[in-house]
Amino acid sequence: MDRFSQPDSAGHFGEYGGVYVPETLMTALQDLEREYLKAKDDPEFQEELSSHQAEFAGRPTKLYFASRLTEHCGGAKIYFKREDLLHTGAHKINNAIGQALLTKRMGKKRVIAETGAGQHGVATAAVCAKFGLECVVYMGSHDMERQALNVFRMRLMGAEVRGVDAGQKTLKEAINEAMRDWVTNVRSTHYILGTAYGSHPYPMMVRDFHSVIGKEAKQQILERENRLPDELVACVGGGSNAIGLFFEFLEEPNIKMTGVEAGGHGIQRGEHAARFEGGKLGVLQGCKTYVLQDPEGQIELTHSVSAGLDYAAVGPEHAFYRERGRIDFAYATDDEVLETFQLVSRIEGIIPALESTHALVHAMKRAKVLSKDKIIVVNLSGRGDKDVQQVAKILGYES
Ligand SMILES: *Cc1c(COP(=O)(O)O)cnc(C)c1O
Repeated sequence: MDRFSQPDSAGHFGEYGGVYVPETLMTALQDLEREYLKAKDDPEFQEELSSHQAEFAGRPTKLYFASRLTEHCGGAKIYFKREDLLHTGAHKINNAIGQALLTKRMGKKRVIAETGAGQHGVATAAVCAKFGLECVVYMGSHDMERQALNVFRMRLMGAEVRGVDAGQKTLKEAINEAMRDWVTNVRSTHYILGTAYGSHPYPMMVRDFHSVIGKEAKQQILERENRLPDELVACVGGGSNAIGLFFEFLEEPNIKMTGVEAGGHGIQRGEHAARFEGGKLGVLQGCKTYVLQDPEGQIELTHSVSAGLDYAAVGPEHAFYRERGRIDFAYATDDEVLETFQLVSRIEGIIPALESTHALVHAMKRAKVLSKDKIIVVNLSGRGDKDVQQVAKILGYES
C-alpha cells in the first residue's frame, strides 16, 4: 500500500477493512467496485456529481470564522466548515448523491439504506425522489419512535420506511436487515451505505464522495489566511465527515488531525461509543476494525446522547491512520456536549448537531491552549434542529 492512498486489492487499509460478507454478495461488491472505479475516472461522471452537489445540495459550503467563540476561548482562531448548511441538514447528502448517480449507471432502479437517527435515511430519500429511484429505508423500531419527524420526512419524499424489531431495535439491527434485503434483491437493488464503513469498496467510495469537504476547506483557508490550518477536528461515528475533511490534508505533515468519539456517560462498559478507548480488533458488519466487545467477542451495548455517533465499530481507515500516528482520537462526554451545544448556540447564533458538538468540545479545549496565531478548522457536520426537542427534554423544558 502507498503511504497515504488507497486500500489494497482486497480492500485492506493495513490490517483493517476488507470484505466479510456472505458469498452471495461478493459479486455485487466486485461489480460495485468496478463501476465505481470506472465512474471515478470518468470526467462526465465527476462533472455530473459536482453539478448536483452544487445545484441540489448547495456546495460549496462556507468556511466561517467563529469570532465570538474564538474570543471566548482566548487562543487559536476557530473556523467552522459549514456542512450544516447543506440540503437535508448534514454532510450525508454528499455521499447519497454520489451513490444515487452510481445506481443509475449500474442500471438499477431500487435503492435500500439503513438509518439510525434518520439523517442518512432522509438524505437517501431526497436523492431517490430527485432521481426517480424506488427507496426502502430500514430503521430500528426504537429509533422510529425517537425520530418520528425524520420518519415522516422520508415518507413525504416517497420512501418506504421499514421498522426493524430485532435486538435493541436500533442501527445495528437495521444494517442487518438491509444486508438481508440486498442478498435477496441484489440484481435490481443498490445498497446506499451511509458512512465510511462496511466492506470494500464502501469505506473508500464514501470517503471519496466526502473528500470535497477538505478540498474546499483547503482552498478557502488559503484564500482567507494565506496559509494552511494548524489543526483539524471532526466527530467520528462511522467516520465519513472526518475522513472527508482530513483526506485532502493527510500528506501535510504539520497539520494535527483529531477525530472525536462519543464518550457518553464516561468510559465504562456499555456507557459510551469511544471505540479507540474501550474497543479491540474484531469484525462487525463486513469490516475488520476496532469494535466494542466483551471478552467473548459479543458486541457491547453503546450509549451516546447523539444517535449519529452511537455505533460499536469505527471506519477502518481511521483505525489505520491512528496506528500510523497520523490521526489522533479523543472523546467528549454527553455533559460536555450539552453544555457546548448551548454555548455555541448562544454566542454564535448557530445551533450545531449534537454529533458535530463533540468536535466543538475538543476544538475549544485546543483553542484555549494554543496561541492566537494558530488556526483550527472544525467540521460542523450537521445542524442541530433535529436535536432541539431532545435537548429541551433533557434540560427540563416543557415542549
Ligand atoms: C451521521 C452523522 C455523523 C456521524 O457519521 P460520520 O460518518 O462519522 O460522519 C456526524 N454528524 C452528523 C450531523 C451526522 O448526521
